[in-house]
Amino acid sequence: MRSTMPDHPLTITSIMRYGTGLFGDHEVVTYTGDGYRRMPYHELARETARLAGALRALGVDGDQRVATFCWNNTEHLAAYLAVPSMGAVLHTLNIRLFPEQVVYIANHAEDDVLLVDGSLVPLLAPILPEMKTVRHVVVIGPADTSALGAAGKELHDYRTLLDAQPDVFDWPELDELTGASMCYTSGTTGNPKGVVYSHRSMYLHSMSVCTGNAMGLSAGDRVLPIVPMFHANAWGMPYAALMAGASLVMPDRYLQAEHLARIIAEERPTSSGAVPTIWGDLLRHARQHGSDLSSLRLVPCGGSAVPESLMRGFEELGVHIVQAWGMTETSPLATVAHGDTWDLRVTQGRLLPGVEGRLVGGGDVVLPADGQAVGELEVRGPWVTGAYYLDEDGSRFHDGWLRTGDVGRLDEHGYVTLTDRAKDVIKSGGEWISSVELENALMGHPSVVEAAVIGVPDERWGERPLACVVLDGLATVAELRDYLSGKVARWQLPERWAFVDAVPKTSVGKFAKRTLREMHARGEIA
Ligand code: ADP
Repeated sequence: MRSTMPDHPLTITSIMRYGTGLFGDHEVVTYTGDGYRRMPYHELARETARLAGALRALGVDGDQRVATFCWNNTEHLAAYLAVPSMGAVLHTLNIRLFPEQVVYIANHAEDDVLLVDGSLVPLLAPILPEMKTVRHVVVIGPADTSALGAAGKELHDYRTLLDAQPDVFDWPELDELTGASMCYTSGTTGNPKGVVYSHRSMYLHSMSVCTGNAMGLSAGDRVLPIVPMFHANAWGMPYAALMAGASLVMPDRYLQAEHLARIIAEERPTSSGAVPTIWGDLLRHARQHGSDLSSLRLVPCGGSAVPESLMRGFEELGVHIVQAWGMTETSPLATVAHGDTWDLRVTQGRLLPGVEGRLVGGGDVVLPADGQAVGELEVRGPWVTGAYYLDEDGSRFHDGWLRTGDVGRLDEHGYVTLTDRAKDVIKSGGEWISSVELENALMGHPSVVEAAVIGVPDERWGERPLACVVLDGLATVAELRDYLSGKVARWQLPERWAFVDAVPKTSVGKFAKRTLREMHARGEIA
């Protein structure tokens, strides 16, 4: 029997209409470094219409890619809504990638129009001439644009363009499976790969983010997305907030702990999301300065493993951090670690409804979800990509499942525990040592600020762990080894240690282990 329900499309347009229409007096607030810019959602609706009108006037009349080179702010939010809703494809460029990667990505996606924040013009200027398909560059806010002139693109001022447009737009009816936005993985190996999200996948992902087993968002929330809007859709927070009618607080370019502490104390967000390194900085700052973070009720944290000591530290300040796991390929939210016990909270989380997971071992054999077997995690679901954009290489896909490249365990209740990324696994004497477990244990030591553990070649064992540690205070190798014993098996204790000023980070703030391995190969750390 067919259902009696209509095939009503799930679109970003409807999220936009709902959020800005029914919650028009809620707002998006952007921090300016010394104050705030506020825009109620009813005005955001008009701003979004003007932006769509301006893009249409520049010739965006189909699925052209409109790229952003922007911070988290009101204008980026307007692009998040206007571009997909007008039927075009939003392409968020990661401003922190190597310049040649940004060029590769812009050319691969065939970006047509580029929205750039005025403060990022100096970063864009040297690479703009190589962005072959870009016709128009729209500069947001004050900037010296003289350096852009040589690129032979048409330059526009955002405000001037929008002021010339009406504050209504005739939003088209869209097929829910058409591309709404795209994002490239940061490509730690090989060229970055593009993921194209559909209206439907974004809609369903946003709904999932709103549920109680994820962020549990409602109209009473104020959401502070610290994770960049160019990193996996800011974990879906902008769309989810509009769907919930929640206000948004945007940090713009001010991601240092002192700014974040001030924004939290003054704007009183109830929820936020950022990678562990950001929260680590904020925790140290808050302890030193007695910052008021009490407005935060629930903070999802992920992108890399969240040390238990970080969660416990925030708990003392009344802030509940929940670990979450996901990837650009999974929109990104796939698991969230709610639970009454620390045993559950230190996992990567429980699969969200719609996302299926399984473990696969050698020879692509499916392993039991018994909390014991260790294998590569594979996932599938309505917001898990089934391919990469214009890429024939199917090696990351397996019978309709995405091979995540993450290794760990899965239990019968759907909790995932990751021990490593496949490429970071340390194999010593035929046994695996989990770098994540060693790092988490080390970061619990009061003098350890950061710890990254890599595998380095060893004649006897094949590989042994090398612990790269940033200290805040004094600690000897003997003391750290002592601290670790009892927490990990004896044979896993690193005998090689490097004390560094900072652990190098990737473009999205994760420990750059490849860089550490290269430093070791060059003899810079031993
Ligand atoms: P990149 O590959 O550039 O890091 P993503 O941001 O898509 O791009 O990263 C996804 C990866 O981040 C996952 O495959 C996983 O290795 C890691 N990750 C995300 N969340 C967690 C977490 N909570 N614990 C451990 N690793 C995580």
